[in-house]
Amino acid sequence: MNISIDLFDQDTDMSEYAAFSHGLYIGGKWRPSSDGRVIEVVDPSTEAVIAAVPDATLADAAAAVEAAAQAAAGWRETPPRKRSEILRRCFELMTERAETLAVLISLENGKALRDARGEVAYAAEFFRWNAEEAVRISGEFGLAPSGANRIVVDYQPIGICVLITPWNFPAAMATRKIAPALAAGCTVILKPASETPLTAYALAALYEEAGVPPGVVNVITTSNPGSVTAAMLADARVRKLSFTGSTGIGRVLLAEAAKHVISCSMELGGNAPFIVLDDADLEAALDGAMIAKMRNAGEACTAANRLYVQAGIHDAFAEGLRKRMAALAIGPGTDSETECGPMITRKAVDKIDRLVQDAVVRGAKVLCGGAIAEGRGFFYPPTVLSDVPADAAMAHEEIFGPVAPISRFEYEAEVIAKANDTEYGLAAYIYTRDLAKGMRMASKIESGMIALNRGLMSDPAAPFGGVKQSGLGREGGQKHGIAEFMEAKYIAVTI
Ligand code: NAP
Repeated sequence: MNISIDLFDQDTDMSEYAAFSHGLYIGGKWRPSSDGRVIEVVDPSTEAVIAAVPDATLADAAAAVEAAAQAAAGWRETPPRKRSEILRRCFELMTERAETLAVLISLENGKALRDARGEVAYAAEFFRWNAEEAVRISGEFGLAPSGANRIVVDYQPIGICVLITPWNFPAAMATRKIAPALAAGCTVILKPASETPLTAYALAALYEEAGVPPGVVNVITTSNPGSVTAAMLADARVRKLSFTGSTGIGRVLLAEAAKHVISCSMELGGNAPFIVLDDADLEAALDGAMIAKMRNAGEACTAANRLYVQAGIHDAFAEGLRKRMAALAIGPGTDSETECGPMITRKAVDKIDRLVQDAVVRGAKVLCGGAIAEGRGFFYPPTVLSDVPADAAMAHEEIFGPVAPISRFEYEAEVIAKANDTEYGLAAYIYTRDLAKGMRMASKIESGMIALNRGLMSDPAAPFGGVKQSGLGREGGQKHGIAEFMEAKYIAVTI
């Protein structure tokens, strides 16, 4: 197996990517899996196998935990300024190599290059933000109410962290965890999604170049995530599980972590309502809907999953959205003209189509799209549905694809009840010119994040996360993200 890492030559052409193979990255070394098995990586635009990565065994997972443990004391004791400078260097290298990384993301994930470029910028920003936070971690000092002693609170790195990420943002979901963990002084084992491991390995090489010491970041891929994760969590040295993925797997992992009372951060699924009120700026609402729905071709946890449009603006909005969606250029993500790339797998396409056909059977009208595209590649056409009833499966499940289901509403209280009628609570969007009304609605919607007159809310400087079954904890933001990787130690002092 070729395990050299030479991804960063800006002149690298696509055929070189196709021939590229990686090793597990453990303790600063690249190695095959202990039984030599591999996982094939598929280009979702062509269905061709483009690379193979090692399929880690339980022994490999144990080696990764051991490497993280060996590196833990050295990294924890590295001065915050030094840790900060290394993180800053990660940001700079990612920024310098942004185009190469974007092409790689686009190749293995399928997303349009413009989305991949946006992801690299967002992902790199977690390093810049946490480089700045690393030197601002402080404790507390106060007098006990009794006056008998002082209360000293010291924030310490929580310990070895297992990080598990999904395929929809192969770079950003990893850096959103790695950067704060390293800033806090923790060492980590990253297990990226099997569909998109190449970006995670490319970034591992970049971290090494930036000066991240061996064993501080370890990356393993496996086709057996349940057993491999369970084995890592059973090692008493592992103290944190940070997971981004589906609510179903989140539940499984919470149960596994409970066996060992391991701290968990969970970034799970969403079912975002996108609400347009009669007094909204129509063009702005349409612009926002295209971003909230079509960033990553709809494969985002924050994607607008249910569009509720007030009766007075409904027809103009539906027609405007139909025109914009029908005009999108579909094709391989790596083509610079592409606006909507393929879905990640055939299974994902079949699920989207099942949801669309279910809605149609229940009375929804197809304004554009609505059927699986012919030919190779996992494509689904941009689709707009109107009159989608509340009992349609897509009103309750994540579509995770380029389908915009519109439902009409009359009253503010009615749409708030509809928006909250879900087990999820990650993101919501509101469009209105009446800011007071918008703020009132934002406070009533059960969601960790609200975008008011915006189609995008993700920002490393803001706390990202959900309520209800969309998750536990926050990533990013002032202190929030880094706090997930720290523990408070209280020292009672008599002076
Ligand atoms: P997924 O099926 O839950 O997988 C996520 C990760 O978990 C992958 O690395 C997967 O590995 C791993 N995994 C699967 N089964 C596991 C197990 N039993 N034990 C340990 N790890 C396991 O989710 P996905 O399909 O990749 O991603 C889409 C989901 O992620 C959506 O629900 C989306 O809303 C959510 N998401 C949430 C956020 C957020 O911030 N809230 C952000 C992005 C995505 P394999 O790839 O090897 O199966």
